[in-house]
Amino acid sequence: MSEEKSLNFLEEIIEADLASGKYKTIATRFPPEPNGYLHMGHASSICLNFGLTQKYPGFTNLRFDDTNPVTEETEYVESIKEDIKWLGFTWKEELYASDYFEQLYEFALKLIQKNLAYVDDSTSEEIAKLKGTPTEPGTDSPYRNRSVEENLQLFEKMKTGEFPDGAKTLRAKIDMKHMNMLMRDPILYRIKHAHHHRTGDKWCIYPMYDFAHGQSDSIENITHSICTLEFVPHRELYDWLIEKLEIFPSHQYEFARRNLTYTVMSKRKLLQLVTDAHVSGWDDPRMPTISGMRRRGFTPESIRNFCEAIGIAKRENMVDIGLLEFYLREHLNSTAQRAMAVLEPLKMVITNYEEGKTEEFLSENGPDESAGTRKLPFSRELWIEQEDFMEVPAKKWFRLAPGAMVRLKSAYIVKCDSFEKDTGGNIKQINCSYFPDSKSGSDNSGLQVKGTIHWVSAAQSLLAEVRLYDRLFKVEDPSSEEGDFKDYINPDSLKIVQAYLEPSLKNVSPQERFQFLRKGYFCVDKDSTPGKLIFNRTTTLKDAWAKEAKKKA
Ligand code: ATP
Ligand code: MG
Repeated sequence: MSEEKSLNFLEEIIEADLASGKYKTIATRFPPEPNGYLHMGHASSICLNFGLTQKYPGFTNLRFDDTNPVTEETEYVESIKEDIKWLGFTWKEELYASDYFEQLYEFALKLIQKNLAYVDDSTSEEIAKLKGTPTEPGTDSPYRNRSVEENLQLFEKMKTGEFPDGAKTLRAKIDMKHMNMLMRDPILYRIKHAHHHRTGDKWCIYPMYDFAHGQSDSIENITHSICTLEFVPHRELYDWLIEKLEIFPSHQYEFARRNLTYTVMSKRKLLQLVTDAHVSGWDDPRMPTISGMRRRGFTPESIRNFCEAIGIAKRENMVDIGLLEFYLREHLNSTAQRAMAVLEPLKMVITNYEEGKTEEFLSENGPDESAGTRKLPFSRELWIEQEDFMEVPAKKWFRLAPGAMVRLKSAYIVKCDSFEKDTGGNIKQINCSYFPDSKSGSDNSGLQVKGTIHWVSAAQSLLAEVRLYDRLFKVEDPSSEEGDFKDYINPDSLKIVQAYLEPSLKNVSPQERFQFLRKGYFCVDKDSTPGKLIFNRTTTLKDAWAKEAKKKA
């Protein structure tokens, strides 16, 4: 039996609402603005909103918050849908705030008729000037007392395009002396002669966030509208508008934005990384975007498990990216197919092994027997890692050195007899002899060796490009450092090597994930083809940064 997990504060609210009979079913929504690709912060909001309606009876809508006509693009809409599906969630309806433009216009008319909204001719500077400050009350606009008739006529003319951008706004008539600045006659509509990705040129007035979000929630009968903490001051206006419009009483609840160490999580900043070409695109495997993480080799399960583990908070905090990598390794360890790959090759010649001969050895595909085995060809010339040989061995060195023995994984024990250097003094080849009776699984040699290394048979090996990724930033919180966040980009976040792979990897397809023995987890890149294999390193086997941090401490 799994341990009972205590309820988070939203689950407590929902359980109380269901127990009291306030609701029989609940409804949540995920409301992205289609102005960029989704990132890990969105993933936690997605897991929260969809997770609640998996746990409790109800549904979750996907609603594109596309009320701002300038920045939104269809490319973003498509990527957002793909990312949510990939994470493993299904929305009830795909909706667009822009589908409600007509309805929102009707709502605005209703407020005007109730004398709760007016058309203001003030410029934005004039409006700002009269707004007051948190400690000083604001001042009424000279246009505040227009008659309902005049307001209706002017608002109609705003809609039909008779005024240029910025000439007029529609404002709620609340209280210019209100303690909450957002309640000081907030703007509901502005004029913007701009093309919209869905409504085209039909509208030249667009509702503000505060006059679209809560109203859209209400139209969809959303019971629990969950957003991040910066919207706390908006809740009063959210409630005021719903009450005055006498529409379905949706409620807003807030939780803390999630931030991860060693990255940035704002679409605006991520866009800068893309446009300034610090990365290859929104789906660059170093990006904290869902598409980048997918390309890097993350599994949806590992992201969901991470989001579940960090839960939700009422206060902003940074989550250690190491924790995300922990859930990633945990899932990949149990699911990734094993394979051998040599990333920094050194030639090994087995001088007493017959030239032209090949044998096949069986090697396990996974962490246990159920994953089965695959065949590995073995021959006289192999590739091994440069780092598995030391000309002058260190203390407690159990790998290759002159005179030392090691087991070749799934094959024979070999002993290093000599080595050769190139003109630059680099070791270019080691010569070994093997022990024919030391075959893995039927070893009668009586030899004792402590080290086992991986290898690839040279003749059958496949050449591949392997992209070794590291953290995109050198510091934990680039956004809080002095100067520009881009000054803290890690210059070594990508290293490309030419590697030799075992031949079973010939026909891999993009997105397939492997554990390269002793080297880490790797995923086939989307640009990989059988003629030009490309692998991305998803993560190392162990957290190298944690070791670094410990050394420093
Ligand atoms: P960004 O600042 O990156 O542009 P945003 O909040 O403007 O983010 P939206 O598309 O408006 O992005 O957000 C969709 C939903 O995702 C919102 O409900 C928002 O609160 C939530 N969300 C965005 N970023 C985070 C985060 N870092 N942690 C938790 N939830 C987030
Ligand atoms: Mg936003």
